[in-house]
Amino acid sequence: MTGQVLVLGGTAEARALAAALLAGGVDVLSSLAGRVAEPVLPEGPVRIGGFGGATGLADWLAEHRPRAVVDATHPFAAQITASAATAATERGTPLLRLQRPGWTPGPDDSWQFVESLTAAARVVAGYRSVFLTTGRQGVGVFAALPGRVLVRSVDPPTEPLPAGATLLLDRGPFSLADELALMRERAVDVVVTKDSGGHLTEAKLAAARELGIPVVLVRRPALPDGVAVVATVAEALTWLEQLDLRPPGAPGRPRR
Ligand code: NAP
Repeated sequence: MTGQVLVLGGTAEARALAAALLAGGVDVLSSLAGRVAEPVLPEGPVRIGGFGGATGLADWLAEHRPRAVVDATHPFAAQITASAATAATERGTPLLRLQRPGWTPGPDDSWQFVESLTAAARVVAGYRSVFLTTGRQGVGVFAALPGRVLVRSVDPPTEPLPAGATLLLDRGPFSLADELALMRERAVDVVVTKDSGGHLTEAKLAAARELGIPVVLVRRPALPDGVAVVATVAEALTWLEQLDLRPPGAPGRPRR
């Protein structure tokens, strides 16, 4: 396993990084949490399931000795990001956080940033038709909403839903035309989202802008201190290049 890169995944960026590393001849292993019933799999080898917290991940790093870890998990996957920082520090394994930038409002947007899902639930309590796109985790904090609530998630939530909820099981990317049609059909008057960033799920923001509907965005959790952070796959590849992960004898690899 020498020279291998462990990519903590579950995002489009993680899949793009794994594909680029494989194309460059780098031995890569992608890791998924196993939360989604039918995950979109990256190219190349994949392991699925938690490591057992920071200690479990540190043990895994000690056993498998990857040359580097790229934490390309979702911006809201705070636990695994914290575990990666602790475990990589403990093992002395180079760690990079690959995290896409958050969304920024334009002049025609009516956005309100809040600190938590609970705060978002308070803000939208007075609306008649809420479009909830925060994913199934934590959706229970919206259970007391009195109005109509369209809940969209990849897999069915296990937490209680509001009395007026309609569940829509779907996975992005979503087109602007589809988002507009959905929001018109349901007479949505407010959208709730995490500030996930990225292009795959941003059409709902453009649709809200076009319909003049407000959006409530939950702010991202803070990143652990002292971890190198990049925003793009290209930057992650540049960071990895300086570790020179190509196999010995590979063309262009400098002699040691
Ligand atoms: P989380 O709260 O940070 O993680 C919960 C636990 O799941 C972690 O402590 C870890 O278990 C395990 N885990 C998470 N990501 C893992 C990975 N890539 N490989 C192995 N184990 C992992 O994460 P989450 O918010 O539940 O997200 C789970 C997965 O879904 C991540 O891969 C993330 O990229 C993806 N995802 C999350 C969101 C979101 O909104 N949170 C959205 C889209 C995709 P142990 O402690 O046992 O190691």
